[in-house]
Amino acid sequence: RRPIVVLDGPAGAGKSTVARMLARELELPFLDTGALYRAVAYWLQRQKVPPEETPDLESRVLSLGVRLEGERVLVGQEDVTAAIRTEAVDRIVSLYAALPSVRRGLLELQRSQAEQGLVAEGRDMASVVFPRADVKVYLTASPQVRARRRHEERLAAGQTSDYEAILRQVEERDRIDSSRECAPLRVDEGALVVDTSDLSLPEVVDRLRRAVEG
Ligand code: C5P
Repeated sequence: RRPIVVLDGPAGAGKSTVARMLARELELPFLDTGALYRAVAYWLQRQKVPPEETPDLESRVLSLGVRLEGERVLVGQEDVTAAIRTEAVDRIVSLYAALPSVRRGLLELQRSQAEQGLVAEGRDMASVVFPRADVKVYLTASPQVRARRRHEERLAAGQTSDYEAILRQVEERDRIDSSRECAPLRVDEGALVVDTSDLSLPEVVDRLRRAVEG
């Protein structure tokens, strides 16, 4: 059986980059679950659905038809891969992700990606989505380091970016993600904690590869 490797941690800890590289090295599929929450938040906001729990919200989320095609994220026929990586979506995503109906609506889609093993990253991979994962990692770094990385990513992508604004958003998103009632961001008891503040990307990937192989 191919392994299930999960990475949880706060915004900007390097989860996507690390998980993607690790997946490539281990020849496993890669799953970025934040992209699914971003796609749902982006679309519900566009439909003027406020971030509030309602009886029909879970079926609404299921009917959006959020799909993954390799690294692309689709909602119905529309490719939202670029549209979900903006500061506007950063600002609202945690509000929608805190709703139990939104989380339930995305659960099966996430689990269905693991048939050939995978490297998945998010906030509740170890606690909720893949509690029986073979390797659980909690990746973290100081808020300043995490905001700096996001800032540099945005600039490299040719977008405008404001470091101070990103730092405030990173802290606000951490606060909402760790204090919500439903699946809060937590260090799972079985998780290997890695602080990436003073580690290079190859060092982090190497440490995790050894954890999977060892
Ligand atoms: O990782 P990323 O920054 O793309 O995640 C965006 C947001 O989606 C997070 O701040 C969090 O609110 C939510 N999320 C979540 N559970 C996951 C992945 C992301 O609640 N597994």
